[in-house]
Amino acid sequence: MKNIVMLGAPGAGKGTQSALIAKEYGIPHISTGDILRRNIKEGTELGKLAKSYIDAGALVPDEVVIGIVADRLSEADAKNGYVLDGFPRTIAQAEALDKVAKIDVAINIVVGFDVIVNRLSGRRVCVCGATYHTSTLGGRTTCSVCGKELFIRDDDKPETVKARLETYEKQTAPLIGYYANAGILVDVDATGTIEQDFEKIKKVLND
Ligand code: AMP
Repeated sequence: MKNIVMLGAPGAGKGTQSALIAKEYGIPHISTGDILRRNIKEGTELGKLAKSYIDAGALVPDEVVIGIVADRLSEADAKNGYVLDGFPRTIAQAEALDKVAKIDVAINIVVGFDVIVNRLSGRRVCVCGATYHTSTLGGRTTCSVCGKELFIRDDDKPETVKARLETYEKQTAPLIGYYANAGILVDVDATGTIEQDFEKIKKVLND
């Protein structure tokens, strides 16, 4: 299976689609955001360091996340493909990634601003990494995967969302050009339902 990078603004649906890809193709879903949030919950040194950046809508320093990803990609289950969700987020991260991996395809999830605002404001997450939207929860407040109570990410609060979108435009959007130059960028319009968007992604991956 392929080594996949998912690109897209915060709230575009990278996490949701990455989870579906991982399940469909039996490959690991590697989300730097999930790894950082788990460390925050567990109170590790990494978590303590990451929290101030995440709460400010800024990026955790490159050398920190590059180290995390390099370690994770060296594990046995990453030998037959993986989906990277939320990494790389800067050109420096993409260059570091190219030194330790061969990325086959970068899928850029394209959605409009109104969709982003709706997806972020309705997002509920579980510490296990599962993600939901209030529109499909029907009032349920627990995770259907592990049963734990769902919560709103601190950084989904409106005051932080603005900073995250600015960070995305400045530091992450240039990756679209980076992967286009490498000849492996595919834009996917992801304004449909989760299932419709996933069908489009599968077509790309099955090519
Ligand atoms: P995400 O769950 O991907 O939206 O990530 C949540 C937050 O974690 C981001 O807003 C950043 O503060 C931090 N983060 C996640 N991935 C990275 C990365 N590759 N580089 C730097 N910071 C990251």
